[in-house]
Amino acid sequence: MNCLFCKIINNEIPAKIVYRDDKVLVFDDINPQAPQHKLIIPLKHIATINELLVEDNVLIGHMTQTAKKLAQELNIANEGYRIVMNCNAGAGQTVFHIHMHLLGGRTLHWPPG
Ligand code: 5GP
Ligand code: ZN
Repeated sequence: MNCLFCKIINNEIPAKIVYRDDKVLVFDDINPQAPQHKLIIPLKHIATINELLVEDNVLIGHMTQTAKKLAQELNIANEGYRIVMNCNAGAGQTVFHIHMHLLGGRTLHWPPG
């Protein structure tokens, strides 16, 4: 499968990995949009949120818990941070393996562009 994030999971493409367990991988975004910008991805290939199954609920919950834990470790939990999942091209999705952006370290404005 020609998936960039599966290649990062399989160590075929380098990334600055900050956390890995049996369900998720976390690494620095190559083009950070904030002082802290991590990508939390499932080891399981799922192209978009539209393909999520009910059985993936535990996995999505684990991604969220991972973001929460990481925000605490990065000292952005109190000041505030954002987790974002873009679905399909119209929302800005460019890599079709679902991922949660964790953004923080600056004031984040609303609404996003
Ligand atoms: P999307 O636009 O799909 O929501 O987010 C994809 C993210 O992946 C972007 O923020 C982009 O900077 C990041 N990205 C794209 N290619 C690479 C890569 O090769 N390595 C890393 N670490 N991040 C990447
Ligand atoms: Zn993939």
